[in-house]
Amino acid sequence: YAKDTSVVVFGASGDLAKKKTFPALFGLFREGHLDPSTRIYGYARSKLTKEELKERILPNLKRPSGAEGDAKVHKFFAMLHYVHGPYDTPEGYVKLREVIEQHEKEVGVKEPHRLFYFALPPGVFLNVATEIRNNLYVPNGGTRLIVEKPFGHDLKSARELQENLAPLFSEEEIYRIDHYLGKELVKNLLVLRFGNTVLNAAWNKENIQSIVISFKEPFGTEGRGGYFDSIGIIRDIMQNHLLQVLTLVTMERPVSFDPESIRDEKVKVLKAFAPVDHKDMLVGQYTRSADGSKPGYKDDETVDPKSKQLTFAAAPFRINNERWDGVPIIMRAGKALNEGKVEIRLQYKDVASGVFQDIPQNELVIRIQPNPAVYMKFNAKTPGLSNVSQVTDLDLTYSSRYKDFWIPEAYEVLIKDALEGDHSNFVRDDELDVSWKLFTPLLEYLEGPEAPPPVEYPYGSRGPRGLREYLEKHGYHISEQHNHPYTWPVTSPD
Ligand code: NAP
Ligand code: NAP
Repeated sequence: YAKDTSVVVFGASGDLAKKKTFPALFGLFREGHLDPSTRIYGYARSKLTKEELKERILPNLKRPSGAEGDAKVHKFFAMLHYVHGPYDTPEGYVKLREVIEQHEKEVGVKEPHRLFYFALPPGVFLNVATEIRNNLYVPNGGTRLIVEKPFGHDLKSARELQENLAPLFSEEEIYRIDHYLGKELVKNLLVLRFGNTVLNAAWNKENIQSIVISFKEPFGTEGRGGYFDSIGIIRDIMQNHLLQVLTLVTMERPVSFDPESIRDEKVKVLKAFAPVDHKDMLVGQYTRSADGSKPGYKDDETVDPKSKQLTFAAAPFRINNERWDGVPIIMRAGKALNEGKVEIRLQYKDVASGVFQDIPQNELVIRIQPNPAVYMKFNAKTPGLSNVSQVTDLDLTYSSRYKDFWIPEAYEVLIKDALEGDHSNFVRDDELDVSWKLFTPLLEYLEGPEAPPPVEYPYGSRGPRGLREYLEKHGYHISEQHNHPYTWPVTSPD
């Protein structure tokens, strides 16, 4: 990408900037993927000094130890500047332009490149976009915007946002970030699928019995539920992150790996999704933990004490195309559960009976986090004199297989992509539109007068009662340990 790029982080005083955006810029710099000629500008209303901004960011940087780390941090902060000003009137932007232009002039930049990162609440989004257009825009592809979710609250508001944004910036200039698309195992999906005949050949309704995509979080809102209470688990996790994962699991092979070919295929498969049967959902809200030590959702003082907001949901999807017709797909996401993980499970159909009376199905598990892994549960003869089959696995655990690799953080990957002008891992406007079309009727039902009350589940449990039956009903078979013992020999990553 171009030397002397200016990266401007709006909302620089905020949580996302502190925890993700600046640390990702540092991570790229540390690994040699952010040119030292880059200038980073923080912008927000808070009257911070550069030193104060530095103090906020510093604890979140992953720095090498010792003198090397000190030197990197020192060089990184030399690239950073801070400008404060309002979001809705031009004066701060004019000041920012002067600072940027002065530097561009000093170093002799002819065609400026400016990347604007919106680490901002959605309410100020359009103001900032308008002021950038009026005061900081450079033509010929020199301007790029990275914008954060939420991209609307439903189909109508998402369209309104897009209609307001379209006259200001072209689709080429917009990078809608969904950080799941920057996760290593999500990025790996296309290679796993299309780079392996063994997987690709059986990736269809003839061989796959069901697909389950799960998001589990081991904590609740922990006193910060105000924002969550207005959106719920479906908007927070499913409509964006899990749907993105699901499209990559189910899309057809793109003609090439160029960004638009990939995004074309994602839109195509999304259009083949059947409307979600909203009456066939399992929805829940967590209550106090069984031992009383963890609070329930409604104990959070920032949450409406009468809230019916969902902290857990499981929804059934169907895709009406040749590859997936009839295959049940379950998406489930929940807070305050027994563990934290995000994974994809593809359960294969039974082998022909006859020689085998009772042999478990194969299952491919792609664990996105924590501890990324891809494993296939499969059957093999018990070693030794026995001829009885046994469940075992083919396993690729990243921490033991790729010890010497730098696996970048999702935000590092995506900021680098945006700097290089690669849209592959960003959400296109038409993709967003179809995703809201799919989810809006579901949300309207769940937020309307006929909505079922959420099933209560205790903090720290697996989720609402009936989850096991729900999964079984949708074609995901849970093996009984006493019938088919399977143990994972836990080994240390080292
Ligand atoms: P935040 O800390 O609440 O806000 C960022 C900055 O915006 C604040 O420091 C504040 O700066 C300014 N601001 C806050 N409320 C404002 C208001 N009502 N009007 C005008 N300015 C206001 O937000 P965040 O958590 O960093 O999130 C930023 C965006 O990223 C949001 O769209 C969020 O949905 C998204 N996101 C956040 C996370 C996360 O982990 N935090 C993760 C994924 C996505 P000044 O007052 O100094 O101007
Ligand atoms: P499993 O524990 O047999 O679970 C399979 C699926 O069934 C999960 O989706 C699980 O839900 C669900 N399930 C099980 N009992 C349930 C119940 N009573 N109600 C509702 N749902 C239920 O998974 P596995 O793949 O065979 O793995 C077993 C263990 O070995 C896991 O700890 C796994 O991490 C470990 N392992 C690790 C690796 C590796 O790190 N490379 C490789 C292989 C296995 P939940 O997800 O909610 O539990």
